[in-house]
Amino acid sequence: MSGTTAAYYVTKKFPKCEVTVVERQNRFGGWVNTQKSDFLFEMGPRSIRIGPAAANTVNLILDLGLEQQIIVADKRWVGRRYILLNNHLRRLPTSFLGLFTSSVMLKAIPPAISEIFVPPKKDDSDESIRSFFERRFGKYITSTFVDPLVSGVYAGNASKLSIRSCFAAIWELESNSGSVLLGQVSNGLKKVFSKKKDKPETGTAKIRGIISFREGLSTLVDALVDRMKSSKYVSLLASSSVVKIEYNAEDKDYPFTIHLSHKNTLKASHVLSALPAHSLGEILSVSSATQALAQALMDIPYVSIATVSLGYTGDILPDTQKGFGFLVPSQEKQNILGITFDSATFPEQNDFDKFTQDPHDKVKSRLCVMIGGDTSNHGSVVDVENCTREQLLTIALNAVKKHLKIDLVPKVSHVFVCKKAIPQYHVGHSASVQKIEDMCHSSFGGKMEIIGSSLHGVSLNDCITTSKKAVDKLEG
Ligand SMILES: Cc1cc2nc3c(=O)[nH]c(=O)nc-3n(C[C@H](O)[C@H](O)[C@H](O)COP(=O)(O)OP(=O)(O)OC[C@H]3O[C@@H](n4cnc5c(N)ncnc54)[C@H](O)[C@@H]3O)c2cc1C
Repeated sequence: MSGTTAAYYVTKKFPKCEVTVVERQNRFGGWVNTQKSDFLFEMGPRSIRIGPAAANTVNLILDLGLEQQIIVADKRWVGRRYILLNNHLRRLPTSFLGLFTSSVMLKAIPPAISEIFVPPKKDDSDESIRSFFERRFGKYITSTFVDPLVSGVYAGNASKLSIRSCFAAIWELESNSGSVLLGQVSNGLKKVFSKKKDKPETGTAKIRGIISFREGLSTLVDALVDRMKSSKYVSLLASSSVVKIEYNAEDKDYPFTIHLSHKNTLKASHVLSALPAHSLGEILSVSSATQALAQALMDIPYVSIATVSLGYTGDILPDTQKGFGFLVPSQEKQNILGITFDSATFPEQNDFDKFTQDPHDKVKSRLCVMIGGDTSNHGSVVDVENCTREQLLTIALNAVKKHLKIDLVPKVSHVFVCKKAIPQYHVGHSASVQKIEDMCHSSFGGKMEIIGSSLHGVSLNDCITTSKKAVDKLEG
């Protein structure tokens, strides 16, 4: 996703610049991968959150003419999120009143209010997400609400992940306002009072909420690839791996020689690497000049996740249980991270094949069970890389039976293992990023940029913004 997005931005900024996109697989998109047979399943990401951090995403979508294909998560269910507590699904409140009527939240109110009186940390050194939230909000809020959120986004361990790198906006609230809660309230009030001055509808004002596309997230990648194909200056090389990158500062025009699999080479003036940090690290480790940079990249840990997609005919989720899905706090010691209820969130995708489907199969239900993550998190995290597909499917079906009380055989199931999929921004990540970017700059004369999810955020919004920023820096 990051590579094709960056290529798109380059062609927009420099229409006559020759661009080559090199991709190891036989398809573009990386983890963005929609599979369509009887059911539409997302193997990797399934939605994009359109909020303040999504301005570049929205502009990209509008620029590619995809506005008509956007689907917004069903309002009835999107706010209904559940967590597993003591083996029961508990619905998180969506309204202010709900805070006081929900037993899950009632216990959270006193520590949330006393957060206002917790003095801010004296220095700005990094700390773990768990340490930050326990210090400010106490153990209950941290293990019940923050921990599963961390699993949902990073599949990571809250005791190791950095608050500064993973939740920078929250970290800044403490340093700027002295309290997360007061900072949130003050930001909210500022927004209300500045609303009247808002300019006419911008992209982000037009599209809001959690979105996908009628035919899945691959729509975005397909549109980028189609746009690239229409330019005579762009070459798309699929099924080709970068195996070595040579840099010769003496060559002012094309200092880079990129060695590809099948013994091909490319000459380049600039390189934007959207490879995962461990892949780029391996490639750079073959040259003695970039050993330290390679090691720093390989030191960024990654976790693997399996997505087990289950498709059923009929509406198997009762209305009382419909929602976005549920997450599992690590204290529950379950062997799944959570389950998303994809057919409730994006019902339009249930009948994406409405012209060909058997009318008797009209109603479809789609669930996705997420398994894996940081294996140091708790004893029951499954090491998905060492499981068979059958084992992962059994874990998923058992979880659906246990937590959703659904004991049906799915019509279709799809097990997909995303190996080394999500980088883990551990405590100290921001210092490592600085070191990596400095070394990259000095090793390649400022002509290589590292984009993708390795350094500056793992969401699709982050990846798109990182690609845009790297291209904005390029000079003609
Ligand atoms: C299961 C899962 C669910 C997720 N859910 C969401 C979600 O709902 N919303 C959201 O915003 N984000 C989500 N994310 C995160 C998001 O999908 C990723 O962070 C993002 O897709 C990363 O994109 P990327 O292009 O930077 O990297 P990648 O997708 O990893 O792409 C890197 C590409 O480099 C290629 N490559 C590697 N080595 C070489 C080489 N030597 N030569 C040539 N090519 C090479 C790979 O084949 C790959 O295509 C999810 C991630 C996963 C795994």
